[in-house]
Formats: sequence, C-alpha cells, structure tokens
Amino acid sequence: MIDAKIIDIKVQDIRFPTSLHYHGSDAMHTDPDYSCAYVTIITDTEYEGYGLTFTLGRGTEIVVLACKSLFKIIKNKKTTKIFSNFALYWRKLTCDTQLRWIGPEKGVIHLATAAIVNALWDLWARIENKPVWKLLTDMSPKELVSTIDFRYIKSVVTKEQAIQILENNMKQKEHQESELQKKGFPAYTTQVGWLGYSDEQVVDLCNSSLERGFTAFKIKVGQNLDDDIRRCEIVRRVIGPEKKLMLDANQVWEIDEAVEWIDRLAIYKPFWVEEPTSPDDSWGHGQIRERLKEKVKLATGEMCANRVMFRQFLEMGIDYCQIDAARIGGINEILAVYFMAHIKNLPICPHAGGVGLCEMVQHLQMWDYICLSQTNEDRMIEYVDQQHEQFEDPVCIKNACYMPPSRPGYSTKLKDECILEYAYPEGNYWKLNKSE
Ligand SMILES: [Mg+2]
Repeated sequence: MIDAKIIDIKVQDIRFPTSLHYHGSDAMHTDPDYSCAYVTIITDTEYEGYGLTFTLGRGTEIVVLACKSLFKIIKNKKTTKIFSNFALYWRKLTCDTQLRWIGPEKGVIHLATAAIVNALWDLWARIENKPVWKLLTDMSPKELVSTIDFRYIKSVVTKEQAIQILENNMKQKEHQESELQKKGFPAYTTQVGWLGYSDEQVVDLCNSSLERGFTAFKIKVGQNLDDDIRRCEIVRRVIGPEKKLMLDANQVWEIDEAVEWIDRLAIYKPFWVEEPTSPDDSWGHGQIRERLKEKVKLATGEMCANRVMFRQFLEMGIDYCQIDAARIGGINEILAVYFMAHIKNLPICPHAGGVGLCEMVQHLQMWDYICLSQTNEDRMIEYVDQQHEQFEDPVCIKNACYMPPSRPGYSTKLKDECILEYAYPEGNYWKLNKSE
C-alpha cells in the first residue's frame, strides 16, 4: 500500500446562496445558506483527501479555524500508520489534552473533526482505488472494527461482539452486494416540503417526485398548526393515502406542545415525526414517544452530538435512528452508532440533503446493507436535489434509489469551478453579491 505522508491542509469556507429561494428552510432554520467547511488533505504523493462538514452559512469561518487547529494532530504522519490504528488516531483527534476543553466531542470542534476524518477516509479510499462503501465492505471484520473507538459504549457493544456480528454475516455479503448493484438503496425525498415553499410549489414538487418513482415524502412542520394541517392535506391529496409521509419539526416544540401538535397531525398518518424537541433531550423524546404510542413513531439524530448521546436516544427515545455523516466524528464514530442500533434492533435512516450529505451517507448505508443489518426493510436514505452538480462524483438516483458509486473516494470532492464561484468571501458569486 502507498505510504503517503500528510504534509499540509487547505480549509475553505464554501457557501451557496440557498436562502434566496428558501431551499432548506424549516421551522428553526428559516434562511439557510447551505454551506460547508471544505478540507483538502495534501500528502507528499499525488493523492489528496477531500472532506467536509455541512453548515448553514454564518459560522462556517469558525469551523474552518477549528479544522486548522486540529490539523497539527495528523501533520507529518504517515497514512499507513493512521489507517492501521485508526481508532487511536481518532482518539487523538477527539481527545487532544487542550482542544477537548472546547468540546468534548460536540459542537464546532466535533464538526471540524468530522471534516478532517471524512477527508482521511476519502484519502484512504483513493489510495485503495475504491469507493468508500467498497473499502468498508472489503475489510475483514477485525480490520473494520479496529477503526472504532468503543470508549463509553462498551455497555452496549464491545469490540469482540462487533467482530462476531460481522463474521456471522460474511456468507450473505456477496448476495447483498449483487442485490445492491442491481437495485440500489431506497430513497425518500424532502425536496417537496421546505417550509418557505408555496402550496403550488409543494403540489408541483410532489407530482414531479411521484413521476420519478418516489414513494416517501417529508415535509417541514412546526411553525403554524393551521399551515401544517393545510400542507398535510395538500400532500396527502397529491400522494394518496398509501405512500409514506414524514413530518419534521426541527426541534421547535416543548414536550407538551409536541404531544398536542402531533396529536392534531396524526390523522395524516405520518410514517414518523422527526426532531419534535431539543436534539439533546433523550428523556423528552421518551416522554413524547410514550404519550403518543400507537399513534406515531419518532425519528431523530441529525443533531445528535456523538455516540454517547446516540446511546441514550437508542435506549429510551426513538424508533428511527438518523445518523449524519458530518455531525458526529466521521465514519469511525458512525460505525459505532450502526453497531449499537443493530444490537438494539432499531433501523437507521440516514439524514442527508445538506451539502455533500447524500454523497457521503449512501456509502455508509450501503456498507450496512452488505455487512451489518443486511436489509433495507424499514430503511430509507433521505434525498434532496441540491448542490449535487457541484461535486465531481454526484449521487446517482434511479427509480428513487441510490445506486452504488463506482469512483474511488467518499464522493466528497467539489469541482474546481464550484470553489472559484462559491468560496466565501472571495469567490466570484460573493464578490458580486456581498452579504453583510
Ligand atoms: Mg430533519
């Protein structure tokens, strides 16, 4: 294997002016400019690694600085050394004796960790000349599990247990991979129901998504109950009673308010209600779930800070677990969550839609389909039709399914022209359209 030395990092603030047309708007984030802190890891070979974490505009500059601070931990390290003991290096990144004070394992510093760790996995896959999902599935159970730091979660899953699960599943792998190549992995769309969209837009988008084969649709709720009722009625009218409808409140409600509000929307038969209250409140989710049981299921996870928080949600508060490729500390930590969810028998339906999130999570869910849960039952990957054209290896959706990427890496490399246009504040777009 090529042994590259990591010599430098480039971190860029990339912002897309999505707030102009309310793309991405929800009850809590009414004017997002979909953005990312974009990391390029430079080595002494021709190989580079590209990684990112998703942001909403203002504040991306803070994540950029955090990435630069973390870089010293991997500077001048050889890739073989990192990848042969990835859990240790992940621990070094998340547990630097001074930097950890501004986390630990949460907030800006953990977003920055995700960007760097994502870039390292992209680099590894490029060196191995494989897409990340294939890199993961071709690893022996021992190798794969060696990338995970089990600190704080050993009461749910141990290294030995994780290896055993993967070993037991080995014989089914080949079949799963060929099924995946044939059919892809099911997606649902959130494109139809951003909160700032007009009713006409919602109808048009539902119709065009139906034509493209989508059978599951998510809309934003939580700002005004009458609006929510009207929008649910419109969507149900267009998609019919059988297709799946999910509702996403993006954390706006108090516990009692959530129960009352969801109770009023339950007649529209939501498949799940997402983020009803604070993303830190596992107890609150448990309360809401208990009081509404028989009526709705709950989903959360896109703002769950780390594997320890996930453990609490898996124990007491949710029915669907939504990992996010850039919120917790990259693939290493996400794998830990997949194992915990598997043991707790909870389906994972990854959060996506933000810049590069669809591109990344597809790899993880495909690994899960081939190696861990080995099913797509009750599982879907979120899909939003935004910013894919900015990537060199964008997602490919066929019949409302994600098709497995074939190019090496984590599908995270932005096109050069995208950076020239949308780097903030020096890109061409932002020079012409100054924001305050
Ligand atoms: Mg959401």
